[in-house]
Amino acid sequence: MSGNTKNTTTDAGIPVSSDEHALSVGPDGPIVMHDHYLMEQMAAFNREMIPDRQPHAKGGGAFGHFEVTHDVSKYTKAKFLQQGVRTDVVIRFSTVAGESGSPDTWRDPRGFAIKFYTEEGNFDMVGNNTPVFFVRDPMKFQHFIHSQKRRADNGLRDHDMQWDFWTLVPESAHQVTWLMGDRGVPATWRHMNGYSSHTYMWVNAEGERFWVKYHFKTDQGIKCMTQEQADQMAGSDADYHRRDLFEAIKRGDYPTWTLQMQIMPFEDAKTYRINPFDLTKVWPHDDYPLTEVGKLTLNRNPTDFHSEIEQAAFEPNNMVPGTGLSPDKMLLARSISYADAHRARLGVNYKHIPVNSPKCPVHSYSQGGAMRIHHSTDPVYAPNSKGGPAANPQRYPEDTVWSTDGQLVRAAYTLRQDDDDWSQANDLVRKVMDDAQRDRLVSNVVGHLSGGVTKPVLERAFEYWRNVDQEIGERIEKGVRGS
Ligand code: NDP
Repeated sequence: MSGNTKNTTTDAGIPVSSDEHALSVGPDGPIVMHDHYLMEQMAAFNREMIPDRQPHAKGGGAFGHFEVTHDVSKYTKAKFLQQGVRTDVVIRFSTVAGESGSPDTWRDPRGFAIKFYTEEGNFDMVGNNTPVFFVRDPMKFQHFIHSQKRRADNGLRDHDMQWDFWTLVPESAHQVTWLMGDRGVPATWRHMNGYSSHTYMWVNAEGERFWVKYHFKTDQGIKCMTQEQADQMAGSDADYHRRDLFEAIKRGDYPTWTLQMQIMPFEDAKTYRINPFDLTKVWPHDDYPLTEVGKLTLNRNPTDFHSEIEQAAFEPNNMVPGTGLSPDKMLLARSISYADAHRARLGVNYKHIPVNSPKCPVHSYSQGGAMRIHHSTDPVYAPNSKGGPAANPQRYPEDTVWSTDGQLVRAAYTLRQDDDDWSQANDLVRKVMDDAQRDRLVSNVVGHLSGGVTKPVLERAFEYWRNVDQEIGERIEKGVRGS
């Protein structure tokens, strides 16, 4: 064959004699079972697909680096957050509810997951393009996702079950308002922000603790699609966002984001007027302004989407020294659930897949398991007197901690002075959106509610929107009844 200089081989590297013909008994006779090459081709093909992520199945990603441009050492001792330090990253953007072939422009929050390959291990921020979320208790999460996906009987997505869930769970109002607004369909992944959404902890070299929220602000500027544009794009190019990122990086138009932090002194959390760990709330910027930290740049495309993006595994529990979790119940649940999902999807040794492997030395006592690649070494136990790795609490103290007490209960967070489900959604509608944005919000909700939502749910939806904002609620009701 002209131009083909490499001979095809089996997966064992053995040269093969034909890409076109199975071994058969004469040209017209049956194929034979010992044609190992054919067997290998068929068997590998049958096993090419791995389970979709549940949720966040559809996505894309790229590689790049994060560079710290400002001194935040008074807040954190994390080595990758010291001024001037540059750290390699992989990022994955995604939608939430759609399957792996679904359109990129369906209205949905977008995942914004970053893995930083730091010198003290991998740090992951499994964020979204929204600063809040639909629920604040992990017991509701699985139900929420089920309500956004497909019905049991006909396998269809269903606006009725989406609104049934949302209207029975008023804590969803802030996120639903955000979703139905302009930012519910970003023009591209390059033109949206990424937020940690959760509150995390930073600790400095003196052991002083801070509560923090990460905001990656797009340097490309925010751009969104109208519902009409999104619907058209879903029909003409279902992979538009994946393609846009790949093409931009390919032509050298590298997207960047500026990392800014909200930083709350540790003690403030006890008396702040809203629960600072409630995932359905933001910290208003007037209370906690943004502090600039550094710049994220994406400049390298994957060369094998499956191994580098589809198998990329992000987990919020990957916290390096100087960073930590918080009492946000959703975050604590995610810190367990993500690693469990990766074990189920990719196998127990998923961190051996190169995209998930730390770029620093690993001295763990884990061993065995399917697909293990890293060598285990003796001694295989700790403590030992044979020169094996040993943890050093002086060097790495357990310092991202907080105290807690109370009887074991199943209960909602204790309400604080300004805690309610509607006020911040109203702030978004009244203080942030302008008239044109409010018009589009009403139009988007009317369109969504007109898509098969049944009567009792519809009545609750009107009430829900009147609770967000009386006038917006009335306009939505009028729009749906008139349509
Ligand atoms: P600010 O006026 O200080 O901030 C408003 C924020 O809203 C900005 O971060 C802006 O992002 C963002 N924004 C602008 N238009 C939209 C939109 N159509 N949909 C979603 N977000 C938008 O106000 P506050 O901090 O007091 O917050 C008021 C409301 O703004 C909140 O209730 C929340 O809904 C929303 N918001 C707040 C954020 C926060 O962390 N405080 C973050 C994002 C949204 P940008 O500057 O990137 O354009």
